[in-house]
Amino acid sequence: MRQDQEDPYQRRSAQVYAAADRAAGSVASPRAVLYDAVLLDRDGTLIEDVPYNGDPEKVRPVPGARAALDRLRAAGLRLAVVTNQSGLARGYFTGEQMRAVHARVEELLGRFDAWLVCPHDDADGCDCRKPAPGLVYAAARELGTTPSRCVLVGDIGRDVGAAMAAGAAGVLVPTPVTRPEEVAAAGWVATDLPAAVAEILRRQQAVQPSTPPTEPVRTALVVRSDSAGDVLVTGPAIRAVAAGAERVVLLCGPRGRAAANLLPGVDEIIEHPLPWIDPAPGPVDPEAMRSLSTRLGAVGADQAVVFTSFHQSALPLALLLRMAGINRIAAISDDYPGSLLDIRHRVPAGVPEPERALSLAAAAGHRLPDGDEPVLRLRRDAVPPRPADVGDPGYVVLHPGSAASSRACPPEVATRIVGALADAGHRVLVTGGPDERAVTARVAAAGGTDLGGRTDLAGLAAIVADASAVVVGNTGPAHLAAAAGVPVVSLFAPTVPFGQWGPYRVPTVRLGDAAAPCRDTRAASCPVPGHPCLSGVDPGDVVNALRTLAVSGGGGR
Ligand SMILES: [Zn+2]
Repeated sequence: MRQDQEDPYQRRSAQVYAAADRAAGSVASPRAVLYDAVLLDRDGTLIEDVPYNGDPEKVRPVPGARAALDRLRAAGLRLAVVTNQSGLARGYFTGEQMRAVHARVEELLGRFDAWLVCPHDDADGCDCRKPAPGLVYAAARELGTTPSRCVLVGDIGRDVGAAMAAGAAGVLVPTPVTRPEEVAAAGWVATDLPAAVAEILRRQQAVQPSTPPTEPVRTALVVRSDSAGDVLVTGPAIRAVAAGAERVVLLCGPRGRAAANLLPGVDEIIEHPLPWIDPAPGPVDPEAMRSLSTRLGAVGADQAVVFTSFHQSALPLALLLRMAGINRIAAISDDYPGSLLDIRHRVPAGVPEPERALSLAAAAGHRLPDGDEPVLRLRRDAVPPRPADVGDPGYVVLHPGSAASSRACPPEVATRIVGALADAGHRVLVTGGPDERAVTARVAAAGGTDLGGRTDLAGLAAIVADASAVVVGNTGPAHLAAAAGVPVVSLFAPTVPFGQWGPYRVPTVRLGDAAAPCRDTRAASCPVPGHPCLSGVDPGDVVNALRTLAVSGGGGR
């Protein structure tokens, strides 16, 4: 049987689903940068925390704050302060005193483009007190941008939670009052404000090519050779390459093929397993490797960009590409590549996978065109119509399974979540692959509709796109939700870093024990008895997470 197959595509006319299309209606053709604005918590982040301070004389900036903020201003980023001030509700200081404090802050730290203050107490149930996302939405609106183009810096979990719930990035700068579990749950942690600012600017810069390609690229070969989720998060980088090449050929593995079919920018797909990437590889077949090399040579690529995860090596494929006669090869490699790579790119740990891949595309001379947000996208023409019998849009999708059992939600927990969601008035669709039917049937029996085995990946994308939220572990459907701009309640097993693999640029609430012993093990099956990272998830927290994401039980959002 032939292992390589190819499909022609007409990508230039492809319409796409995009999170940005839903969120960014008012922003005209934004520049293809990660961030327009930096939102800063006040107490403990910009200035030393003096509880309920109404006295301008007590304002003390944190070390390096002025210079760090001036770096952001010089880079063209707009700045806003987003701050909980429940002292107003409690009568500890007046609005006038607070304005005097803020005037003093600007005297010391320079002007901010917006100040967003929540005056409420927890008991008020407002939608602006962090971790609710209201201040982030308001700040983005006032700054003329969208939350996904904002990054928020704060010192406690409430700050990061508010950022994520709005689909913004969140950087935690811990202080002695930051709780260890808040540090564990944060996807991005910096040692102090200047370090947070340096990393924001570095990431912003990393997705911009320093030089355009030295020669025009007619055909680019791009490679992403593992599972569906991996292929989906590489989508923005592949679009960047497509913007700079006349034709794009994607080499993917069998596990990623269904996702590859959904990516805009791809003209042709070659499917072939790579035994140094596949998690359950067969033996290396020399004849298959020779024929793959020949097949890749026939592509006639004048550039190859090999995308990998941080624990994978691009070098064996680079050797095959060299043997195929390809003489411009770019890849990320910490291992010494000798003469296998023309562009050896390196990325620090912790960068979101889509940005990590975009930075490699940039190193190879490619960037997203203006107006193309760095979000996940799917080809609209590759997604079938949603089956009529699943009902009107506005349901919640619960996807309990995962190809790696360490990242799946335990069925008994998923069952209780379905019950809690149904009790709260949500319509719940339970999805899963053909081999997960027993689990989805059992889980759905608690009050949902069982769609187990009903959909392939494209069909699942259609169902997810009309959901008001998706409850899912760290697995492919989380990225389908991100691509459709559908909020995610992420039941995230910490086997890999949340900052790299969490749902990208979409409103998200993270649940589960981020400090569980499986943390950073990359285990495919849970190494800890009882699967404690997810078995302790409280179904009530899922209901509350949907409330935080403004997903109501009535089906609206
Ligand atoms: Zn409020």
